[in-house]
Amino acid sequence: MLNSESLNNVLENKEISRQSILEIYHNAIKDPTELFSTAQILREKYKGNSVTFSKKAFLNIINLCKDSCSYCTYKAEPGEEKLSLMSNQQTTELLELAKKYKCVEALFVTGEQPEQRYQEARDWLKENGFSSTSEYLIHASEIALEKGLFPHTNAGNLNYDEMRELKKTNVSMGLMLENISKRLTEKGMPHYLATSKRPKARLEILENSGKLRIPMTTGILIGIGETIEEIIDSLLAIKELHQKYGNIQEVILQNFQPKQDTRMKDEPSADEKYFKTIVAISRIMMPEMNIQIPPNLSPKSYQSFLSVGINDWGGISPLTPDFVNPEFSWPEISKVDENSKSAGFKLKCRFPIYPEFFSFISKELQDKMKEIQNEEGLVKEEYWR
Ligand code: SF4
Repeated sequence: MLNSESLNNVLENKEISRQSILEIYHNAIKDPTELFSTAQILREKYKGNSVTFSKKAFLNIINLCKDSCSYCTYKAEPGEEKLSLMSNQQTTELLELAKKYKCVEALFVTGEQPEQRYQEARDWLKENGFSSTSEYLIHASEIALEKGLFPHTNAGNLNYDEMRELKKTNVSMGLMLENISKRLTEKGMPHYLATSKRPKARLEILENSGKLRIPMTTGILIGIGETIEEIIDSLLAIKELHQKYGNIQEVILQNFQPKQDTRMKDEPSADEKYFKTIVAISRIMMPEMNIQIPPNLSPKSYQSFLSVGINDWGGISPLTPDFVNPEFSWPEISKVDENSKSAGFKLKCRFPIYPEFFSFISKELQDKMKEIQNEEGLVKEEYWR
């Protein structure tokens, strides 16, 4: 029995109010022991002692972007060395190499509607025979499947029809909510120059993913100048979407790390104690959810997050860098395995779709996964190790 009545309610499967969540947070800032142990109990109850990851190749299809978020180093300008405009051939070659490395996921990433702003993007599409970025993505996803990889597209605010088309080949898709706060879109705030990050626009895309029954990855960015109320409201919005459509397959909790070439370069990275408290709060708000932190963004301490509620490391690539956080290379999979083991957890490789969402996708896609699938709906050890 815990001292906190609210946490006892959580353990008894009772809904807790926004006010109670806030109180739990403020108590945990003084002493996190009860919150952390509740998160651990729930994690163990719903996720056992395994921790998953997805073995992926990151295909940086095009990193021109019509928006400008203050923390982003992914976006390139024409002429910059980091500009990526992958041709059809480069995409195919990288997918072939990824298969040789026994990657499972083909992660397709683009900037936000690049052709709306840049002539270079329009020329690139024309040269490769496409009229839009989404048409390119549909084609690239088909190639990935042909080569034996499973596509997961994260291309910003796609419209309903584009998402419906991509669902035919993508086993899941991703769109970070980031934060639901309008305040963070005001002048001087990180999302001021990013219309795609307006909460209403973001929520509409996530709603569409629900209507289309797309297994969806979303999440929040922590440490970009938000308040705890804004974090809790963002998590509540994700929870509500999931209650309505049942299609949110995982929540990524990403800690802000300042990037040298961005407007936020002098801001501090997210405080680890604050970050851990939010991880544990997420677990108690959504006890059965798959909750992920990227291990490369907490390189010294990622395994300690296993004791505050996470059950997934997200995508780790043995082949390509994390183009969103290029200065934080992914740890080697063998190292993650070792660290997970010493924390008392077994590392398992999953598809970019979690087993509990298989019924959301076509039989054809389900059958393709069976070739390398084990009885748990995860990837066979002999394939990925
Ligand atoms: S975070 Fe995404 S939307 Fe924002 S500037 Fe970078 S690529 Fe564009």
